[in-house]
Amino acid sequence: MKQDILVFIGRFQPFHIGHEAVVAEALNKAEHVIILVGSSNRAPSLRNPWNFEDRYEMIKKVFPYEVNTEKLIIKPLADTLYNDEAWTSNVQRIVDETASELGFDKDHPAKIGLIGHSKDKSSYYLKLFPQWNSVDVPHEVGVFNATDIRTSYFQGAPIIPHDIVPKEISAYLKEHMMSDHFRHICAEARWAKDYKASWATAPFPPTFVTVDNIVVQSGHVLMIRRGGHPGMGQLALPGGFVDHDETLLESAIRELKEETKLADKHGPFPMGKLKGFLDGQGVFDDPKRSVRGYTLTHAFLFRLPPAKELMKVIGSDDAVEAIWVPLGSLDPRECFEDHWFIINKMLDGAM
Ligand code: NAD
Repeated sequence: MKQDILVFIGRFQPFHIGHEAVVAEALNKAEHVIILVGSSNRAPSLRNPWNFEDRYEMIKKVFPYEVNTEKLIIKPLADTLYNDEAWTSNVQRIVDETASELGFDKDHPAKIGLIGHSKDKSSYYLKLFPQWNSVDVPHEVGVFNATDIRTSYFQGAPIIPHDIVPKEISAYLKEHMMSDHFRHICAEARWAKDYKASWATAPFPPTFVTVDNIVVQSGHVLMIRRGGHPGMGQLALPGGFVDHDETLLESAIRELKEETKLADKHGPFPMGKLKGFLDGQGVFDDPKRSVRGYTLTHAFLFRLPPAKELMKVIGSDDAVEAIWVPLGSLDPRECFEDHWFIINKMLDGAM
């Protein structure tokens, strides 16, 4: 049965022949295909190097006629890490809005389907939409994945796998090699490779334990700008690795002190006093949250008393800068790893 609308969700980092084959099949099976480009609100990283606009351009290069005639509609889809209900409702909202833009309504509802290939555990999201028809793609096209493409591309002697990316994407990648963005992701990739190599002789893959501080005062959150890899130049929560002779809370407060030099008008803020403002804690465990490998972070929320003048901060240690950012202007696309999502979760969705 032909669908009115087929929805295809993915990261497309980059768009390869597996994705192309699914889109081609979807175009045969439906009047309209909506591609939702996932993780559109993430900062550039080795796992998500290209932003929404880049990926829109890639897909349009492969399917120019279908995009120009609106048979293929491409929209951004934000991650809402640690909140699948928010993500699901966002997908539903975007698809409903698009259906109404296409002329469907309550009296003439669209026949909607979701197309995708259940490749591994990470494809669980295909089961989150029982109200739509499920169009499975039974076979993978080729034995490869986008991670391998990124690994061989983002290196000193980049390899473009012409056999597994459409020719338009080969040309795109060739041109992209000249960009600062390419050089930046290569530097991140080199750092990650060396970091993983330094743990290669461990008997088991390591699990790292870190702490992060969410310090809020008068509608602002305290952030630092990262001075080194990974995430060089991105905004992050003050925090770091736990030392072997301290509790998690001691570690969090030590990192906060080292990276931000938090002070009031009397001088450095006494850390004992800071404990009095502790207003919550949480553990964040997305297995893919860090390029280092599995890294569990314990987050501590400190709510400082409202004040006309925010506490003084100076970036030091791993931080090139420490700044108070108004909650409403913190952009997830500038934030390291899952830090924006941690803030949002700890502040009950205030972002
Ligand atoms: P992807 O680009 O890896 O894959 C997209 C689709 O293409 C999948 O259906 C995949 O199985 C299929 N595919 C990949 N290779 C194929 C091949 N060789 N042959 C045939 N089909 C192939 O994208 P993804 O990681 O699955 O994208 C999911 C998106 O949804 C991500 O952006 C993720 O962050 C997002 N998501 C977010 C939340 C949340 O924020 N709470 C929850 C679930 C999913």
